[in-house]
Amino acid sequence: MRRHNRREGGRPLKRLDAIVIGAGFGGLRALLELRGLGLETKVLEAGAGIGGTWYWNRYPGARSDSEAWSYCYSFSREIWDEWDWPDRLPGQSDVLAYLEYVADRTDLRRDIVLNARVTRAEYREPDGDWQVETEDGGTYGCRYLVSAGGILSAPIQPAFAGLEAFEGDWYMTSRWPAGGVDVAGRRVAIVGSGATAVQVLPITAQTAAHVTLFQRTPNYVIPARNRPLEDDEREALKSEFEEIRQQVRNQVFALPIPPANRVADGLAPDEVERILERGWEQGGFHFIFDTFDDLLVDERSNALACEFIRNKIRAIVEDPAVAESLCPRYPLMAKRPPLGTEYYEAFNRDNVSLVDISETPISEITPTGIRAGDRTVECDVIVFALGFDAGTGALSAIDVRGRGGVTIREKWREGPRTYLGIMVDDFPNLFMISGPQSPFANIPPVVENSVHWIGKAISASREKRALAVEPEAESVAAWGTLLNQYVDATVIRHGTDVRSWFLGANVAGKPTRPQFHFGGAGTYFSQLEQSMEAGFDELRFHRR
Ligand code: NAP
Repeated sequence: MRRHNRREGGRPLKRLDAIVIGAGFGGLRALLELRGLGLETKVLEAGAGIGGTWYWNRYPGARSDSEAWSYCYSFSREIWDEWDWPDRLPGQSDVLAYLEYVADRTDLRRDIVLNARVTRAEYREPDGDWQVETEDGGTYGCRYLVSAGGILSAPIQPAFAGLEAFEGDWYMTSRWPAGGVDVAGRRVAIVGSGATAVQVLPITAQTAAHVTLFQRTPNYVIPARNRPLEDDEREALKSEFEEIRQQVRNQVFALPIPPANRVADGLAPDEVERILERGWEQGGFHFIFDTFDDLLVDERSNALACEFIRNKIRAIVEDPAVAESLCPRYPLMAKRPPLGTEYYEAFNRDNVSLVDISETPISEITPTGIRAGDRTVECDVIVFALGFDAGTGALSAIDVRGRGGVTIREKWREGPRTYLGIMVDDFPNLFMISGPQSPFANIPPVVENSVHWIGKAISASREKRALAVEPEAESVAAWGTLLNQYVDATVIRHGTDVRSWFLGANVAGKPTRPQFHFGGAGTYFSQLEQSMEAGFDELRFHRR
């Protein structure tokens, strides 16, 4: 391909075939794929290290909710055989170490530029190229731009009155200092009760003088049941490579969980209870997928699981008023349920308090604490676990301009518009990994399947000697319609009422639309395959 450096606007322009934004699970895998196609590629990473989510989210207790043997790549049998996971659910430092190992093992680092936050990307006609700019003044030109910024990487900033005058220390969980934070003997306030706060609370309570959790909406917290893996389990996993791959390929959220092969309807109450109890003991998403296959689509079945969890909360939490405040009243999965370790149990500790702010929101941060209604909680440290502008947030944070200067923010003003969650009309040669409208599922398998499709689409474009490739507007519209149907068929549609990030409802002013594909990961993988088999007939190739 054409490759030369030229100067534009007085700045040197580094000419490449492809640029990948982000060096997390998606970006690393994309670099490998594009290199395999013979494309000169660089990854531009905002952080000072690789790892994406696992680089930024170093808060105490950070741990994956997916079993280790599915929260990894499957492109290399050698890497699968070489890597040993210590725990059932890998911790932040283990996932980071794994990604660093993969990067070294496949010699990725020489093409990764760290501390390079992409601020602008502009499609240039008639060349069919992208010009990409970084915060530090770097300018790059490329034919293919791959956005791998992640589904949950644009954090919601704390915008509370008075925060600037707070005399203690405050932290965002997604920007946690690499050296950690010593909370020993200090009074800590945690704002938020999502998956992150659920992990932070019990660990913080072990050393802090006191921890107060400010909860606006309770969540259904399922026991994580993490544990160390035994040597013989690790050995067995190595020989089950193909079986695990198949299981993940077919499971609705790409998890290594077999189908339950039963529904709740028609079963006696004590049988329902026994099955849910077994799921609760297994822990993690087994509670949802290894109990009844219709939990996400049948409101009655879902209600049985909800009441089961509420009864667990009432049984675990000793103070009945606190227990009731912790009980959610909406369908399970209308919000993403967190996995917890000793979460509800933590509220029995003398040094843990719950402040229910569902009726009386936080009004201000005072110099010494947090005020909600007529109550002020004094604290030395505030931990904000406020969540993310999911789906569209990562790419919208960049000034991305497609054909005719249209920005991605304008394009998505009424909600995300994509084809397969990978391409956007009017944004030729732009590909997304884990973009909006891609599946809500275990990330690594989604990444690997998406990257495969992207590689094939780029190859097809090059074979056709096309200058640019983009989806037909009708394919984009049809994808949006399909995604609405998926959500309408599940309890996830209730997420609008409870500020679910699945639907973008957690961000003020964001249109409430499905941010993800909820039709099942296996369905999505088949959709990618059909598209490839059909020769990408829903894409438009612009020839020279
Ligand atoms: P989240 O689930 O969106 O939770 C954010 C929390 O902040 C919610 O409780 C929210 O309350 C609260 N909040 C936001 N603005 C607030 C305000 N102005 N005042 C008071 N409370 C406010 O975010 P998250 O906990 O970071 O988790 C996001 C996702 O990341 C998870 O769902 C999960 O997919 C992923 N994650 C995964 C793991 C894992 O795999 N183990 C761990 C952590 C996170 P409302 O609910 O009322 O809006």
